[in-house]
Amino acid sequence: MSMTKSSMRTRLLNGQTGDPALLVQLRWQGRAVLLDLGRIDRTPAAVLLPIEAVFVSHAHMDHFMGFDQLVRLFLARDATLRLFGPVGIADCVQGKLAGYTWNLTDEYAFTVDVSEIGTDALHHWRFAARRRFEREPRGVTPRTGRVVLEDPIFRVEAAPLDHKIVCMAYAVIERTHLNVRAGALEASGLRPGPWLNVLKTAVRRGDPEDTPIMVAPGERRPLGTLASALLDVTPGQKVGYVVDTLFSPANAAQIIDLARDADVFYCESPFLDEDIDQATRRYHLTARQAGALARAARARRLNVFHFSPRYEGRYGELVAEAHAEFLGQEKRYGDLDRGHAALP
Ligand SMILES: [Zn+2]
Ligand SMILES: [Zn+2]
Repeated sequence: MSMTKSSMRTRLLNGQTGDPALLVQLRWQGRAVLLDLGRIDRTPAAVLLPIEAVFVSHAHMDHFMGFDQLVRLFLARDATLRLFGPVGIADCVQGKLAGYTWNLTDEYAFTVDVSEIGTDALHHWRFAARRRFEREPRGVTPRTGRVVLEDPIFRVEAAPLDHKIVCMAYAVIERTHLNVRAGALEASGLRPGPWLNVLKTAVRRGDPEDTPIMVAPGERRPLGTLASALLDVTPGQKVGYVVDTLFSPANAAQIIDLARDADVFYCESPFLDEDIDQATRRYHLTARQAGALARAARARRLNVFHFSPRYEGRYGELVAEAHAEFLGQEKRYGDLDRGHAALP
């Protein structure tokens, strides 16, 4: 089985210092999702139009003020924008939409479908342009585990963090791709057919290697043999996203679990560790804490951002501190419990 590149590409629309807005593009699909919705007015429309769903961490201005911009861009389009966020986000959407006059939108098909992420359920509402963005209930979906959105290409998981209000952390996880290698069928003396989908489904499900797969009438071969002879497996990439959170044992446990083995982990890093008191008072992380969390989650790559403007001219120090801790020696989890992530 060989490996090819991931189809997810990430980009902070405002870099490390501007409002949080992380675009996750699904290459070759012409699709994208957005994590957080800070100001986006400097991003070209062509970059924003593929966005299908937005995952808002919380409704502090720097994470949500781009909502108006996105609505304006989508308004005349036949599109549904899905928006996820913590409980209360539908009130915020309603309040924003109530701030404009909608007497000429009756013909528009555009809708905003909002899902609030509760502890054990998603609560859905629709705001339709043709109904002047009146709030309509759309039911409740029970949820188990962290998953909030399932798509054929990816899924999104969420974890609530304490920022003196709930702030949602997210992970976008690409599904494993399975492709039949060119020429492999002929080489194995097999003919294509619906059995290939049966094989892929069984592999995705993690069925045992000796599971018989019927490849032709009356002919069965074991799953393991078929998979290694025929399939190219591209493991799904994982993107972790954490902003605006207190460094507490409970938050650390949530973050480490959510971001575990992430290929790339985007983590807020607003303060230097020398200003840890200020960070704690404001329910934010320091760079060193971000590095410790990334290491504990065994992330492959750490991207720090959401820098406080107080460090203008010294942003490199935030990056250096986070990476020194991230790349530091393996340490006991107890360091996290104490709320300090001191260097060895
Ligand atoms: Zn905040
Ligand atoms: Zn913030």
